[in-house]
Amino acid sequence: MIIIMKPNASEEAVKKVTTLIEQKGLTPHLSRGAEVTIIGVVGDKTRLAGSNIEISDGVDKVVAVTESYKLANRKFHPQPTEIRFQNTVIGPSTLTVMSGPCAIESREQLLETAFAVKKAGATFLRGGAYKPRTSPYSFQGLETEGLKYMKEAREATGLSVVCEVTSARAIEEAVKYVDMLQIGARNMQNFELLKEAGKTKLPVLLKRGLAATIDEWLNAAEYVMASGNEQIILCERGIRTFETSTRNTLDLSAIPVLREKTHLPVIVDPSHATGVRAYVEPLARAAVAAGADGLMIETHPCPEKALSDGPQSLTFDQFEALMSDLKPYAALAGRTF
Ligand code: PEP
Ligand code: MN
Repeated sequence: MIIIMKPNASEEAVKKVTTLIEQKGLTPHLSRGAEVTIIGVVGDKTRLAGSNIEISDGVDKVVAVTESYKLANRKFHPQPTEIRFQNTVIGPSTLTVMSGPCAIESREQLLETAFAVKKAGATFLRGGAYKPRTSPYSFQGLETEGLKYMKEAREATGLSVVCEVTSARAIEEAVKYVDMLQIGARNMQNFELLKEAGKTKLPVLLKRGLAATIDEWLNAAEYVMASGNEQIILCERGIRTFETSTRNTLDLSAIPVLREKTHLPVIVDPSHATGVRAYVEPLARAAVAAGADGLMIETHPCPEKALSDGPQSLTFDQFEALMSDLKPYAALAGRTF
């Protein structure tokens, strides 16, 4: 449930309500807006029965939250969440572009890509050190060696860096080298992994599962948040449909739906959504127009030689052209870029 305070409610009145919630063994979550303060309560609300919280000083109304996700719910936190990094902020006033190779293949490949995407205007470098491949015989990633190259690229360029983690062991390693952990589509409902990511202090980029509904996705975010880490960025990367012309089908409607349901930032990955280089740019533009807070785009120094996802990876020239084409879209959406 949420307790909405009156616009003029005093600090003392807010304190009285939060103390009452704590005395009943529940945890209050405060969200202070310019006008009103909202106090969210997670847990067994029957414990508040008979406490007459609705007539406590300064309380406007008490509203039940029927969705199973609470901390991720926009009702708990009406203001959009902003997530800060060394060099940028992900949120409603910026357009954050993350780019880099599908997999980290070598030190040279990663550093070359880092400088190229930085020059084109990206603020994040992406790259997989643990690759969840469909076939066990495909390249599985450089693991810790790859993470070390990520850190080196971070230091050399000033970019923030993000890497996918596929196990608790990978999390333990990655936290030493990167700014953000990525949980991939195949692990969106790996609840033990979500809980492990929730125990870290790093923001988590949570990709949508291959066939996950938006409610399942928000519940996955809730797992991370309920474990203590509320810094989540959602990434729409296409879902499985009957259509075979593209690798997946990009669900652009997820952007406005998520805006209504959650305060968490939302980015779009048109590379994995389409699997086809030529379709990346039009869908990147569409995502920005539909209100995305950012994009994840795969790039490679030589896509035809890439060890994974070459057909969807852009060359540096193509990436630079895309970044320049996005400028008017970002301006129309009122975002600095
Ligand atoms: C990736 O970003 O490299 C990746 C594997 O993406 P997804 O989990 O969306 O398939
Ligand atoms: Mn990939």
